[in-house]
Amino acid sequence: MQVARRIAEVREAVAAARSAGGSVGFVPTMGALHAGHLYLLDTAAAECDFRVVSIFVNPTQFGPGEDLAAYPRTPEADLAACREHGTDLLFTPSVEEMYPGGEPETVVSVPNLGARLCGANRPTHFAGVCTVVTKLLNIVQPDRAYFGRKDFQQAVIIRRMVEDLNVPVEIRTCPTVREPDGLAMSSRNAYLSPEQRRQAPVLHAVLEEAAERIRRDHPPAARVREAIRRKIEVEAPLGEIDYVEIVDPWTLRNVEQTHRPVLIALAVRFGRARLIDNTTVDAPGSRA
Ligand code: AMP
Repeated sequence: MQVARRIAEVREAVAAARSAGGSVGFVPTMGALHAGHLYLLDTAAAECDFRVVSIFVNPTQFGPGEDLAAYPRTPEADLAACREHGTDLLFTPSVEEMYPGGEPETVVSVPNLGARLCGANRPTHFAGVCTVVTKLLNIVQPDRAYFGRKDFQQAVIIRRMVEDLNVPVEIRTCPTVREPDGLAMSSRNAYLSPEQRRQAPVLHAVLEEAAERIRRDHPPAARVREAIRRKIEVEAPLGEIDYVEIVDPWTLRNVEQTHRPVLIALAVRFGRARLIDNTTVDAPGSRA
């Protein structure tokens, strides 16, 4: 496995792989790799000849007061994990390499999709994500790029961005990998205290319960949202609800009725850990 700090090294290695006739797969991450990331690496390894992983904690997707400085960093374990999971090239650029002039002048904004769900309380987040993903896709120029359904809104936005901007890449989304008790794996789970960690699996349980209820009875969305909120308040009192929404899985617009495919998504803060999770009902190929 080659480790590259510089953009020029990535371009050179990918060009060599391409001239040998191989397909290129790319998994962008912020590191602190866990089994959710490794699923993406394994899928890329199974589908592509040359596998590139990036680890870059992108400052432009963190808002003021968010956890940029505290974001977990485990570089040695990440290196070993990439080696063991079929990575050919690990790209770990510095902030200066990615943003040599500081904040970029050009940004990729997604004013509608990016304002919904997580965007309501993180208004600059998805522009930061789209800008860095565009830069990374331009640097690596992969045939396929891999994203997790755990960040459902991000996957919807990246697909839309690639379509809108004619980026020549196939976006692949992979299922959410969970702890045995149902908690979605996340680098931010490391922030949880033992008691918060004990309560956090309630998020997955309420989502599955709500999905089951929708499949069975199609109740109005407002009633389902209320039931989810109430259950979180009772069973996970250390959690502070950021949002609970039931939306169309493609436009992310709120729905009132549930007689059609829906995405149920939530964000809940446990201390400094802001956890997100989601599930879908009847959305073809998008069961999380
Ligand atoms: P991050 O390092 O948090 O930016 O995540 C990098 C990629 O891994 C994103 O595409 C995430 O959606 C994906 N990912 C994170 N957690 C999980 C998980 N539990 N299951 C599947 N994919 C995940």
